Amino acid sequence: MRLLGRDEWGADPALPRRGHQIGASYRTEVIIHHTATVDGKGAPNEWGTLEAVKLRMRRLQTARPDLGLDVPYNMVAFCMRDGDLVVCEGRGLNRTGAHTRDRNRTALGIAFYGDFEAGPAPRYFDRQLRALASWLRTLRNELGFARLGYSRPADRQVWGHREIRSARTLCPGEALQDRLLQIRFIDEEDDTAMDRSTWKLVQKALQSQEPPLYAGKRIDGLPGGNTNIAVRAFERRVGLESRGVIGERNNPNASIWPATRELLFSTAAGVLGS
Ligand SMILES: [Zn+2]
Repeated sequence: MRLLGRDEWGADPALPRRGHQIGASYRTEVIIHHTATVDGKGAPNEWGTLEAVKLRMRRLQTARPDLGLDVPYNMVAFCMRDGDLVVCEGRGLNRTGAHTRDRNRTALGIAFYGDFEAGPAPRYFDRQLRALASWLRTLRNELGFARLGYSRPADRQVWGHREIRSARTLCPGEALQDRLLQIRFIDEEDDTAMDRSTWKLVQKALQSQEPPLYAGKRIDGLPGGNTNIAVRAFERRVGLESRGVIGERNNPNASIWPATRELLFSTAAGVLGS
């Protein structure tokens, strides 16, 4: 995978970078787009040269004046004919975007350049999606985007734009939507872990049990083996399916932990209130 900064693709310096600065730790989800509307139907999905890529990026700066004169996405990915993936800096990783209503603060909006509804999947698409995933993994594990993926669909780690409630769009197109499962950047162990606020609530509920023990050991409140066992047991006791999904497995709009949290609030309120 190759990254191209704004200087490298030749962003017009007369058009300032839009959006507001935002810290990496506020980013909780990845939303995948395609750029279809920019060139209309039938835009190609594979690119031969870096020059072609740079030209498209410069056009993107002014393509949607209604969204402000800048690339509306955080990053834009180009599937190259030789199998490489080129990822260009749009607003950048640390700026708010203009790609998805209500999610421009919390989401990293990443667009694939092309039309993946009308056009075919690129020849090396799977490899290119995995390259993107491995870059996201680095962001999450090493570059401060530690909460990336806290908000996600039940069976995947990234959202397609069309799955966002406020969106009325085919974006990111069928060929891309069908393959979003391949963009996996959260390690298995993390993948089954709760987000922090849910976890704290469960922990509180567990600690208020009499006696505040599980398997004969104190629940110490540290994220670790014993607390995790207790949490799993709690999930079984209140009838949660694995990973906290409550009968919503097939609903792409249902995030996992928010559903768990809702249940836990009522359960914990009962436990703590008594
Ligand atoms: Zn979109």
